[in-house]
Formats: sequence, C-alpha cells, structure tokens
Amino acid sequence: MTQEMECLCQECGISVYHPSSIINLEDPAGTEVKLLDSLLICQECGGRLALVGKVGNEPHYRLE
Ligand SMILES: [Zn+2]
Repeated sequence: MTQEMECLCQECGISVYHPSSIINLEDPAGTEVKLLDSLLICQECGGRLALVGKVGNEPHYRLE
C-alpha cells in the first residue's frame, strides 16, 4: 500500500496528492518549504509544489 502525500501548489494554492513513491524532494535538507522535484508540478497552473505532509496528517515520528 502506497502512502499518499499532500502537496500544495505555490502558485494557486490547491492541494494535490501524489504517492510518496514518486516524490523526490529537490533539496531535502534545505529550506523550510520543501519544494518537490520540478517533474511534479501543479496540474492546474503548472506551478511548483511544496510538500505538506502525509494524507491523514499522521505524525511522522509515530512510524519510526
Ligand atoms: Zn497551481
């Protein structure tokens, strides 16, 4: 079962969902806003997407 991740468009503000298996962070250790790889863009406006978190808002630390 693939975990879906919620991503937020930086341009139009919609939420989109992608399976975590296809998500690549451009710079995981970088800025506060975790932009996704430029291959994954907003289907509505073509804007960059930023990672929000897992769908269902499960705290990451609980899975460790
Ligand atoms: Zn957009």
